Amino acid sequence: MSIRPPIGTRYRITWSGGTSSGVTVVPTGKSVPATEVNVMRDGDGGTVTVNVDRLGNPETVTVVAATLRTAAEWFSGDDRDTMREVADQTERAWDDICPVCEEVDCDDDCPLEDLRAAVARGELRRES
Ligand SMILES: [Zn+2]
Repeated sequence: MSIRPPIGTRYRITWSGGTSSGVTVVPTGKSVPATEVNVMRDGDGGTVTVNVDRLGNPETVTVVAATLRTAAEWFSGDDRDTMREVADQTERAWDDICPVCEEVDCDDDCPLEDLRAAVARGELRRES
């Protein structure tokens, strides 16, 4: 069973033509199956209905992981390896114990706090 993410959650979707765009979850009508969700595309503002499984990781997760990987290049040896591992864990298991701040309930300044709070409220689940 799929659960629709909360309205306002940001994702990046790659379309069949190979282009990708940022999308934001918007309200979905009752006539739409539970496995699908309405999203609004950046740029043209068009609303499209997509399968929930198509969403992948929320944009926050992607950005945090990419930032960690970029910052990892500032370091060497074990420090670099550790940061790369945290980046991998962020993409794989961001709804388990937090890979960034290492808390079950995120610290106030953790970049994953809002997303993980949505998981705790049962509004969002990780793509499995
Ligand atoms: Zn955290």
